[in-house]
Amino acid sequence: MINIIENYNSILENIEIAAHSVGKKGSDIKLVAVTKFVDNARIEEVLKQGVKYVGESRVQELNGKLDLFKKYKNNINFIGQLQKNKVKYIVGEVECIQSVDRVELAQEINRIAKKKNVVQKVFIEINIGNELQKGGVPPSMVDELLEGLEKLDSIYVNGLMCIPPVCENETEVRKYFAQMKAIYDRYSKIKLNNVNIEELSMGMSEDYCAAILEGSTMVRVGSALFGPRDYSKK
Ligand SMILES: *Cc1c(COP(=O)(O)O)cnc(C)c1O
Repeated sequence: MINIIENYNSILENIEIAAHSVGKKGSDIKLVAVTKFVDNARIEEVLKQGVKYVGESRVQELNGKLDLFKKYKNNINFIGQLQKNKVKYIVGEVECIQSVDRVELAQEINRIAKKKNVVQKVFIEINIGNELQKGGVPPSMVDELLEGLEKLDSIYVNGLMCIPPVCENETEVRKYFAQMKAIYDRYSKIKLNNVNIEELSMGMSEDYCAAILEGSTMVRVGSALFGPRDYSKK
């Protein structure tokens, strides 16, 4: 039996320990509960514990959870690859879209946000391992992307996100996290009207402690909290 409350408490403990070893408090690290493939009853167990941040990676699935998230006043993060034609369903509904990796996508978010009279918070997703099949902008093209984003006044660029390559061990994954931190340090100095990089969203179930040790401000944890995902259900 999976005990979600127990999982949650031990994740909080692990975050506390990792944060302390880099001179931070556990509460400095935002824990995003990744709820994809998890049914609403199990999600609610965790929300009752006071989890604030939630993350979803698919638009349709998110739609079925919005009422629940609103009931608990959650901070909703969209973390999956996003197609332009689905942008209209999430702008203004979610606090942050963490997966902006191309200017055409940002322009569409901006267009819909303007229409809805909101400013949409976004993060830039970086393809830190330069992997062909993965979303995210390659590190070498962040400058160019930012030039495009600066002009869009209905989005607010507030962080960076990454999903590192699958790694054999912690030493290897920490190299990617360290590279992300270096990029974050560089871009967080840029202060523009709509660009202010404060968050570094990295670390998942297998590596959130390693990510915190390398400077993550926000970890996204799914299976370590809810147990293995049952992909057969959806
Ligand atoms: C699924 C997912 C996570 C959580 O993955 P776990 O390994 O289950 O913790 C985090 N970030 C993104 C973008 C995801 O799609």
